[in-house]
Amino acid sequence: MILRIPDYFEDFHCLGEACPDTCCIGWELEIDEATYDYYRSVPGAFGRRLRAAMADAAKDGEAARTFCLKVDGRCPFLNRQNLCEIVLELGPEALPEVCTEYPRRTFSFGPYITRSLTLSCPEVARMLLTSEPPVHFPEVDLSERVLADTEITVKGDGSPEPAAAEDASDDPSDAPGEDAEGLPADFTAKVRDRAIGLLEDRGRAFADRLGRFLRYAEAVQQGIDAGLRTDGQLFSMEETGFERCGDTAEKPQKESPEDLRAAFAKRLELLEKLEDISPRWEKERAALSAMAGAPPFPEFYDDVRAEHLMTYYTDRYFPLAWYDGDLLGKARFAVFSLLVQMDLLTLRARKRGEKPGAQDWIEVVSLYSAEVENSEYNTELLLEALGQSL
Ligand code: SF4
Repeated sequence: MILRIPDYFEDFHCLGEACPDTCCIGWELEIDEATYDYYRSVPGAFGRRLRAAMADAAKDGEAARTFCLKVDGRCPFLNRQNLCEIVLELGPEALPEVCTEYPRRTFSFGPYITRSLTLSCPEVARMLLTSEPPVHFPEVDLSERVLADTEITVKGDGSPEPAAAEDASDDPSDAPGEDAEGLPADFTAKVRDRAIGLLEDRGRAFADRLGRFLRYAEAVQQGIDAGLRTDGQLFSMEETGFERCGDTAEKPQKESPEDLRAAFAKRLELLEKLEDISPRWEKERAALSAMAGAPPFPEFYDDVRAEHLMTYYTDRYFPLAWYDGDLLGKARFAVFSLLVQMDLLTLRARKRGEKPGAQDWIEVVSLYSAEVENSEYNTELLLEALGQSL
């Protein structure tokens, strides 16, 4: 098993009471099975309170256990001082997995375990968006360490052991089977790494890197589709001339104002379909719609921050192609997300008549992430809508 973590991961520390945007407000908190069983056994008045706060909610036809949020959207166990009463009463080990894990996330595909931090947490957004060097993703071969030392921990967060990873798939029977449309894990990992390399190629202007990134994803997808169609085998990296595709593929013409207007309208149309997570998002989306008559021209404002965002999406979403083979859809999702956030920054720039600063980026990026990444429904809707069948 190969564990991969972005280089800023270990520096994360929750801001606690100082956080400008607590993660205990506004989101549905799903309670994992083990915690649910434990809460059902807690004695006394606090146990009764826990059980009263839990609700069985139907989700995709399956029962999901959640806490009923209060009318103001607060977790029922968040007190006036913004402290968690479950921790105060029962200790931090009594929290549901979602609370102990957030903003950390683990995803496994084949022999790879990837850990990441979710940008909806403003502290994570601050860390990523105020750093200058390209993000690196050190890898550790856990199989050697498992043999040498069973106490594997990730410094700074105390978890996970490989078996505890979300979507853990070290069992080969979990891998996409012959009939599945997924990709081999090694192949997926190589394509992800190559795509990140294109994005972090700082000898080029960011817009150029973004174009190469998209053309690369298109070339890979064509190869995947052709390989799957012809003999059921996936081609090797070398066979497709991947290394050259960013340069050799025909470069797109400069977009006309009509094209830009149409692309913006398409982004708005998709955003309209999302479920609104917070009133703040609703307001920003309405303000974006009001710009439809004078759509923003793509401006990245800050190449390093735009690069970091794209790297984040690529690291996080490309591995999902291991399931469905739709790499191009993940690339489009990354570019769509970047452009929507640039639209939101343009809104601020126009209002204030000045270039957005670091704080604008942090607010916009954490707001977008909360709206899209903290809602399975919204993430899936966008990934599907931007998928390769487009
Ligand atoms: S949003 Fe991030 S910094 Fe704020 S309370 Fe949650 S984990 Fe901590």
